[in-house]
Amino acid sequence: MKTLTSSKDLAINGAPPCFTAPLHVGRPNIGSREDFMKLASDIFERRWLSNNGPLVQELEKRIADFLGVKHCVAICNGTVALEIAIRALELEGEVIVPSYTFIATAHALQWQAITPVFADIDPKTHALDPAAVRRMITPKTTGIIGVHLWGNTAPIEELQEIADEFRLNLLFDAAHAFACSHRGQMIGNFGRCEVFSFHATKFFNTFEGGAVATNDDALAETMRLMRNFGFAGFDNVVYSGTNGKMIEIAAAMGLVNLDAIEGVIEINRRNYEHYRQELAGLPGITLLGFDESERRNFQYVVIEVGTGCPVNRDRIIETLHAENVLARKYFWPGCHQMKPYRDLYPDAGLSLPNTITVADKVIVLPTGTAVDEQDIIAICAIIRILIAGQ
Ligand SMILES: *Cc1c(COP(=O)(O)O)cnc(C)c1O
Repeated sequence: MKTLTSSKDLAINGAPPCFTAPLHVGRPNIGSREDFMKLASDIFERRWLSNNGPLVQELEKRIADFLGVKHCVAICNGTVALEIAIRALELEGEVIVPSYTFIATAHALQWQAITPVFADIDPKTHALDPAAVRRMITPKTTGIIGVHLWGNTAPIEELQEIADEFRLNLLFDAAHAFACSHRGQMIGNFGRCEVFSFHATKFFNTFEGGAVATNDDALAETMRLMRNFGFAGFDNVVYSGTNGKMIEIAAAMGLVNLDAIEGVIEINRRNYEHYRQELAGLPGITLLGFDESERRNFQYVVIEVGTGCPVNRDRIIETLHAENVLARKYFWPGCHQMKPYRDLYPDAGLSLPNTITVADKVIVLPTGTAVDEQDIIAICAIIRILIAGQ
């Protein structure tokens, strides 16, 4: 790795890139390969590949124990898990969601002919603003989906209060918040249910996968039926279900990755600390904070490029990409600006000023086991030199 001292050293100015191999955001966290191979071999021995196999059952039990929740229903991915949760809760009409989230939060509703009504976020936390949620309630509203963005938690109590007052179902998209807590209790225990994604890029992965956690026995039972075509036993279909089953090889990955999560958190936390030190004092650059009195997975290192920064957000990203640091915009330009929603709800943006501002400011930087202190020093030096402009 080269040492960066002035803007002559930047790749955008013709120097060779700082990193020879690309540093990605969301590079998968992978536990013991040896353990995985052993579990894979067991699967071949059993010839039980899918349909609620022993590894899926074991993973569900271990996750439920880890979260301190009664039920974990494993699903083939987070999007189908959201769809099943929404269907099992019998949501219809309109459901309030943030626009500042991954597109699947909105798609899971629209796909089932339910209108996603986009509410604005708190610009400090990037989570749903309860006052904005209240403003979007109509007689057609049946639910609220809060998103625990970046592994920080949505305003759970405030949203629950609104849900109780208007008799709405509250659930959470917890795709970012596996192994995170709220007031000392693990995420997975709040609302009617909470939905996780175990996609390869998420903090905890099963290649592709997801789960719904809930303390509601009847809801869990409904979701178990729905993920398996509605089969209640041989030759007996009781729901118009779907195929949301997790496969055994995915569960094997989950079991070995579950053993590794504390180590990943430690590395992510250390990386976050290094970023905090190295970014300190850069004009207009703010590192998003985590509530460190709670459990956090530190999977996302999020910075905001404010008006006080002499260089704009896109120029910083372009400069980092030239150095092989594949930093990313996230949730830009917001779900409401993506074609299907822009066409359907052209005026949604009028009530989303904070979403629009935040989506224009955010950069997510690489972290995880492939990134170390020296890398972070170099990444932050690139930004510092670019900003200094000399
Ligand atoms: C990843 C993600 C999803 C979708 O999960 P998949 O497992 O990729 O289907 C939904 N919501 C949010 C906030 C996500 O980040």
